[in-house]
Amino acid sequence: MSSTPHKRILLKLSGEAAMGDQAFGIDPATVQRVAGEVKAAKDKGLELCLVIGGGNIFRGMAGAAKGMDRATADYMGMLATVMNALAMQDALEQAGVETRVMSAIPMAAVCEPYIRRRAERHLEKGRVVIFAAGTGSPYFTTDSGAALRAAEMKCDALFKGTSVDGVYDSDPKTNPSATRYERIGFDKVLADNLKVMDAAAIALCRDNRIPIVVFNIREEGNLARVLAGDGVSTVVGG
Ligand code: UDP
Repeated sequence: MSSTPHKRILLKLSGEAAMGDQAFGIDPATVQRVAGEVKAAKDKGLELCLVIGGGNIFRGMAGAAKGMDRATADYMGMLATVMNALAMQDALEQAGVETRVMSAIPMAAVCEPYIRRRAERHLEKGRVVIFAAGTGSPYFTTDSGAALRAAEMKCDALFKGTSVDGVYDSDPKTNPSATRYERIGFDKVLADNLKVMDAAAIALCRDNRIPIVVFNIREEGNLARVLAGDGVSTVVGG
């Protein structure tokens, strides 16, 4: 196995990664398994930022589709990401990893507010920093939040752990002959409207030259393989 070329990365997990086989919510056993993989990456000397979505609990668009005010629903979605962040913090700390949760929406009794210089210091001290509440603004997603924090923290790459093993030319869940790209450029992803992350997140990564590595987090041991450069993934813009 080749060792990772990265020094500092941001790992973005969709909320569904915390759900396991459940249809909703947080499955502690799944969170513990992912925390173990994060610890293994950390133990290899990586500086790690984490962003976890909230789709396993609440998505603003879903609320808006049922008549809620979009911004209000989005704030609920952002609160859902704080719950996931706390679940991951708990699992990581139980595994012996020092962490800090920093929220874009200040909630002093629960976690630290996001302060960029302070986050930098935590990373330098070897703590895993979990960025919660996305960008802190409605009409965004946690993908955009992840791209923003990756840029602010000067991460070498954004690893996006999802339920598919990369970027395909069409949806592999509905088209059995869909093919996976090994590498693809940012502009092609945007032009072909490929479902990697939302366009704002892709553009932010492109403009700041942050490659995105898309891989399947549901498969055990995959994070270590992909970090070592021999897992199945798609590298966007690398
Ligand atoms: N959200 C938001 N602003 C942000 C990040 C998230 O309004 O900067 C809300 C939005 O409603 C979103 C929800 O939080 O649907 C949960 O995040 P996301 O859908 O990105 O989670 P994932 O799909 O990664 O589980």
